[in-house]
Amino acid sequence: MIRPLPPNATIGLVGGGQLGRMSALAAARLGYRCHILTREKDSPASQVSMATTISDYHEPDGLRRFAAAVDVISFEFENVSAEGLDLLASLKPVRPSPEILRVSQDRVLEKTFLNRTGVATAPWMPVADLGSLRDAVARIGLPAILKTTRLGYDGKGQVTLRSADDLPPAFATLSPKPLILEGYIDFSQEISVVAARGEDGAYAAFDTVENRHRNHILDVTLAPARVPEPVDRQAQAIARKVADALDLVGLLAVEMFVDRDGRVLVNEIAPRPHNSGHWTIDACPASQFELHIRAIAGLLLPPAARHSDAVMKNLVGPEEAALWPAVLATPGLIPHLYGKDEARPGRKMGHVTRLFPRGSLPGEFGIAAALGPVAPGDPSP
Ligand code: AMP
Repeated sequence: MIRPLPPNATIGLVGGGQLGRMSALAAARLGYRCHILTREKDSPASQVSMATTISDYHEPDGLRRFAAAVDVISFEFENVSAEGLDLLASLKPVRPSPEILRVSQDRVLEKTFLNRTGVATAPWMPVADLGSLRDAVARIGLPAILKTTRLGYDGKGQVTLRSADDLPPAFATLSPKPLILEGYIDFSQEISVVAARGEDGAYAAFDTVENRHRNHILDVTLAPARVPEPVDRQAQAIARKVADALDLVGLLAVEMFVDRDGRVLVNEIAPRPHNSGHWTIDACPASQFELHIRAIAGLLLPPAARHSDAVMKNLVGPEEAALWPAVLATPGLIPHLYGKDEARPGRKMGHVTRLFPRGSLPGEFGIAAALGPVAPGDPSP
């Protein structure tokens, strides 16, 4: 049994981005200090934390210094090497466990685990060379998506295949990395569930939400998702099944597609706070970040209740970062800025949340009106 981490204990967070920043803010409210491991000077998480170790994620000396300074280790960033994780886990408790991280780091391990657990995904096959890509396309059909098995996010490391002519250039672009071919899902919606689980099996899941992407990057989250009841039930049941099967201690996001027949398929899982859970900071008594910290600290998990409906809009890249003064000037938009110096294209700079009384999430025009200066253009997957 985990003894609850006492007040003033130090939580080590691997990764210095906005997820670490918002986790550290939640930890501070619970009376904990955070120590960040990151490669960056002046990272978003370091700006609001007590201390930082600047090191590569696989550099043994840096990892040892970091572990020596903390009481428990968690992460906001998944791409720590297996050796690095083993080293950290040999020194201090790591939650969620390194095994969970390993599964979520590799699309082949992840889909193998999901299918073995009885959770549906897009059809998939591992791809080693052009010959096996041709075989996989013959089995799965086109269109399909060729992805690197590791280190892919926000649409990086993936190419859509529409005709046989696309195979050689797509393979050349992504190889020699290990690859996976996935059947293209003609989805009606993308949804996700964020859930926390304690060491004693206590479980709390936020409501299912709907996610809209632009240029493969999350643009808008609607909470709750506007889905039929059976879809919601499937999504919640999948999140529970995955959390239990992983014996999760911590927080987990499950990203899912709803296909045209109302079937729910898992795209990927992330054992950490997730962009599609940012709305919980403003619309829930206890946010995803608080549940993350509570779960890894061995504290009681409160219900993942929602007092309001919400729309969350990311501020991505220089164009949307430039809307910040307009955000501040618009009553009702709840502003969040991440402290990043440079607004590069595709970089998540901040987000805004707009709340609505429970049960009154408006339609498209109402959402656009409520977001005012940051209303998105046409949503595209
Ligand atoms: P990922 O990096 O796997 O999260 O993919 C990023 C985005 O690409 C997803 O949110 C979807 O919009 C799209 N996508 C990924 N895989 C598929 C698939 N098998 N079928 C259709 N769209 C996909």
